[in-house]
Amino acid sequence: MTALSHIPGDDDLATPSDALVFFGATGDLAYKKIFPALQAMVLRRNLDIPIIGVGRSDWTLEQLLNRARESVKSFYPSATDEDFAKLAKLLRYVDADYQKAETFDQLRSELGAAKRPIHYLAIPPSVFPTVIEGLGRSKCAQNARVIVEKPFGRDLASSRSLNRIIHAVFNEADIFRIDHYLGKEAVQNLVFFRFGNTFLEPIWNRHYVKSVQITMAEKFGVAGRGKLYEETGTIRDVIQNHLLQIVGFLAMEPPASTYADSLRDEQVKVFRMIRPLNPDNLVRGQFKGYRREKDVHPSSQVETYAAVRLFVDSWRWEGVPFFIRAGKCLHSTVTEVMVELKRPPIAKFFPNQGNYFRFRLNPQVTIGIGARIKHPGEAWNGQTTELTAVKPQDSDEMDPYERLLGDAMDGEGILFTREDAVEAAWQIVQPVLGNQTPVFEYEPGSWGPREADVLVEDFGDWHTPAE
Ligand code: NDP
Repeated sequence: MTALSHIPGDDDLATPSDALVFFGATGDLAYKKIFPALQAMVLRRNLDIPIIGVGRSDWTLEQLLNRARESVKSFYPSATDEDFAKLAKLLRYVDADYQKAETFDQLRSELGAAKRPIHYLAIPPSVFPTVIEGLGRSKCAQNARVIVEKPFGRDLASSRSLNRIIHAVFNEADIFRIDHYLGKEAVQNLVFFRFGNTFLEPIWNRHYVKSVQITMAEKFGVAGRGKLYEETGTIRDVIQNHLLQIVGFLAMEPPASTYADSLRDEQVKVFRMIRPLNPDNLVRGQFKGYRREKDVHPSSQVETYAAVRLFVDSWRWEGVPFFIRAGKCLHSTVTEVMVELKRPPIAKFFPNQGNYFRFRLNPQVTIGIGARIKHPGEAWNGQTTELTAVKPQDSDEMDPYERLLGDAMDGEGILFTREDAVEAAWQIVQPVLGNQTPVFEYEPGSWGPREADVLVEDFGDWHTPAE
């Protein structure tokens, strides 16, 4: 259960799940994230329920255990053999053919006496409908919850259709759409900083804020996953979900303290007030060499970089641009938010830059407040100094997957994307999906194509995060 959920008046009576089924047990996500999260939950919250891995790879339980052991060794190295034994005794395996009713009947019998199971779909999205229908037909879905991995659809129409399919079997309150960004300590810290500090509220609006920039840069490329990336691109991969979530947290009104879902209500309101994108507010890029990657079309138009300019048409933000840029093979791996304030009226003190708030979300968590002071000496010159708060590294910090899995099992939905939010976010990017605008080439190791500068030119330059 997250701290955010402990809001007075919240009805905290959700029954915890008493069995976990995870589809895609043989896959990459299970290996890198799910087994380590389960190991952590066994140790930290004494998780002690049946955990049933499902795959189609003709595996035995022994093979699943070997895979889980390898995963825990690599991604949770502090776990001892005794620790792993506690996880191993909970694991079961079902080998599946999702087209066959027997698969789901077998699963139902593995669930035994479980009354509130949870099903985690860690499988490619194309398989979601078949599995959901199978769960519904076999009664595995009775009184059950479901966790759905991102991406949730690939455009507005497919996300609506997926919502219809899931709602035929599960109630909205039992659906947990994962955006692992919401489980990150750094992102939660952003929300906390906004609403935990009285000094911020009077200036957090169009009267004082000049512009907001969010940079999510990755130094690495598509890492052999060209086939997946060809169907995705930067807008679908990180802008429609992670980065719009950050815009939502930066721009939202204070959530009510009287009911738990108010945070998500405020988030959705922001999405509904963002003007849908048009080609004038988008610059797409592709790193040199992308077309030579495995499984990438030699004349691919898919973007590995996108820069957008958004406007939130609200009382608070009218006229303040929110700039986002994200991409692969960029100069460094860093995610940073820069909120620049308008400069004071006496330009002598502030020739170029006013105050700012800088939120580094990755790799370290840092909050910096840019202030102007007088440069020592006779002349009346200023300089910028930064008041910086660095969050100490916590070796015991929860991985987002541990936090999110735990919340979903407790029926706690705050950190998951609701139906209305996912559709509102698709509505924002829908008009620019589909390679309609040119894609500009950029050098690997750069900050993206120069053509993106035009988006910010009326407000200065792109903010370059420091190393
Ligand atoms: P994988 O490609 O590794 O596939 C997961 C498993 O799904 C496979 O092991 C396979 O298991 C099963 N599978 C694959 N194709 C089919 C098919 N056509 N029909 C039925 N089953 C199939 O995916 P990931 O583990 O990387 O990702 C799983 C989900 O998590 C996806 O929705 C992805 O978008 C999401 N995700 C993944 C991340 C990652 O880092 N990997 C990060 C964020 C989200 P078997 O053949 O044994 O059934």
